Amino acid sequence: MKKELDLVLAPEVAFDPALLERELLQQAGLLAPSEAAFIHKIKRSIDARGRKVQVKVRADVYTQTPDLSSLLPSYVYPQVKPEARRVIIVGAGPAGLFAALRCLELGMKPVVVERGKDVRSRRRDLAAINKEHVVNPDSNYCFGEGGAGTYSDGKLYTRSKKRGDVQRILQIMVQHGATPDILFDAHPHIGTNKLPVLIAKLREAILEAGGEIHFDTRVTDFIREKNQLKGVVTANGTTMEGEAVILATGHSARDIYELLHAKNILIEAKPFAMGVRVEHQQSLIDGIQYHCNGDRGAYLPAASYSLVQQVAYKGQERGVFSFCMCPGGFIVPAATAPGEVVVNGMSPSRRDSKYANSGIVVAINLEDMDLKQHGALAGLRLQQALEQKACAVAGGTQVAPAQRLQDFVKGKVSASLLETSYQPGLASVDMREVLPPMIGERLRGGFQEFGYKMRGYLSNDAQIVGVESRTSSPVRIPRDKETLQHPQITNLFPCAEGAGYAGGIVSAAMDGERCAEQVALLINR
Ligand code: FAD
Repeated sequence: MKKELDLVLAPEVAFDPALLERELLQQAGLLAPSEAAFIHKIKRSIDARGRKVQVKVRADVYTQTPDLSSLLPSYVYPQVKPEARRVIIVGAGPAGLFAALRCLELGMKPVVVERGKDVRSRRRDLAAINKEHVVNPDSNYCFGEGGAGTYSDGKLYTRSKKRGDVQRILQIMVQHGATPDILFDAHPHIGTNKLPVLIAKLREAILEAGGEIHFDTRVTDFIREKNQLKGVVTANGTTMEGEAVILATGHSARDIYELLHAKNILIEAKPFAMGVRVEHQQSLIDGIQYHCNGDRGAYLPAASYSLVQQVAYKGQERGVFSFCMCPGGFIVPAATAPGEVVVNGMSPSRRDSKYANSGIVVAINLEDMDLKQHGALAGLRLQQALEQKACAVAGGTQVAPAQRLQDFVKGKVSASLLETSYQPGLASVDMREVLPPMIGERLRGGFQEFGYKMRGYLSNDAQIVGVESRTSSPVRIPRDKETLQHPQITNLFPCAEGAGYAGGIVSAAMDGERCAEQVALLINR
C-alpha cells in the first residue's frame, strides 16, 4: 500500500533526516519504524513568503518495499565490443561525459578528447590563478575534466520542462556518488568540494566499459572529406577518426569558434548577457529572505534570491537579471587566457561561507553588437574587449575591478572596498571606466529596482566585482532540429552550451545524451 503525503513542516524537522523520517512514518499512520516501510521522498521546497519560514515536503510512504527499479533505476554500461563504432567527443564537460556514457549504453565506443587535465591535476592550475595570477589557457576554471561545471556551485536546477530527462541525469549522478537529496530538493546542488569526486567516478565508469579519455589533448583542426567530418586533429598533430564528432567544447573555447569561422563552417552571432558579480554578507540576504535578524538558525540553508527587471537605456529596454546566484559561496577568477579578468561564483556543499554572490547581468541583443565589422564573432569580440578592459583597468593581473554597490549607483568611486571572497584581490575603480553605458546604466537602474524589491539589498555593505561575461555562448553553431547535425557538415554534432543549446550542468548533460542518441540513429541507419 502507498500513502501519498503533502506536508508543511518546520525547517528543523524537514532538514533533519531522522526527524523527517519519523514524521513521514507517523503521518502515514506507521507509529513505529517498520522494516518493510519504504519512504520515497519526492520534493522538498522552502516557502519563505510568510513571516514564518516553512518547508513543503511531498513523499510517498509504502508499507511494503516497492519495485525499486522504477524509483531509482540502475544504469548499465556494457563493455565496448571490438566492432563498436568510434564516436569522437570533444570536451569532457557535463555534455561530453554524459554523451560518452550514453554512447556506451547504445553500444558505441566514445573517444573523449579534452584539452585540460584530470580533476585532481587541475587544482594546481586553479591555485596558480588565485595566488600567482597565472592563467593556463588549457587548464582553468572553465577547461579541464568536468568542464566549467566542476569547480562551481553545482546547482542542478534547469528550466527544462523535460522532467523525465532531468531526473535521469540526476539519477545517474546519484548512482555515481552524488547525494540522493538532489532527487528530492526543489533547488538541488552538489557543491564544489563534492563535484570532483562525482566527475572522477563518471570517468571511471567510461574507462571501465572500454571508452577512451585523452587529457591534455587540444583539438586544433577537423578532418573533412568534402562535407563530411571524419575526425579531428590535435595540437601535437595526432589525428583521431570516428563515425561522428560531438563538439561539446563549452562557451569559452574561442579558438574553436575562430577555427570554424576560418574554415567557413557556418556559425552565427547569438544574444547573451554580461555584467558584474555582486557580493553581500550572507547574513544580510538571510535576513531579507527569511525575515530574521540575519541568524537563519541551524537548519535553514543559506538563502538565495532571483531578481529580474526590464531597464531602458536610450529608449531601448533590456532585461537586467540575477544569474548563477551562489549562497554561502566564493567569487572565482574564471578567465581562460592571460590579459583578461572574468568572474564567476562557486560554493561548497554546505554553502557555509559568510558571503552571498550573484551575477547581475544585462541582456545583450544582436543590435547591441557590431555585426557589420565582426559578423558571427561580434558578440565574442564585445565579450573579449570587456574582459581585457577589466584586466587593464585593475592593473593587468587577476585583481578584479570593484566598487561598493551604492557608490556605483551614485557614480562615486569607493574610498575603500570591503573584505571579499575573491582570492586574487580587488582594485577600487569607477566601474564606468570598465562597463559600456549600455551595460553600466542599465545595471544602475536594475540595482535601484532590486533595492525596492529586497529592502537592504542596495547597500554600501555590498560591492560589485567585474566582469561577469561568460553567462552563455555569444555564438551559435547551427544544427538541424531533428538530426542535430550541422547544416553544412554531416557527422558534426554541435552540442550543449558552446553551440548555444544548453545553459548549465543538467541541460548540457541532457544535450550530450541527445547528441549521442542521434549519432546512434545515424550510424544504424
Ligand atoms: P563545458 O563545461 O564548458 O565543457 C567544455 C569542455 O571542452 C571543457 O572541459 C574544455 O576544456 C573542453 N574544450 C574546449 N575546447 C577544447 C578543444 N579545442 N579541444 C579539447 N577540449 C576542449 N552551471 C550550473 O548548472 N550550475 C552551477 O552552479 C554552475 N556554476 C558555475 C560556476 C562556474 C565558476 C562556472 C565557470 C560555470 C558554472 N556553471 C554552472 C555553468 C556550467 O558549468 C556550464 O553550463 C556547463 O559546464 C556547460 O557544459 P558543457 O559540457 O556544454 O561545456
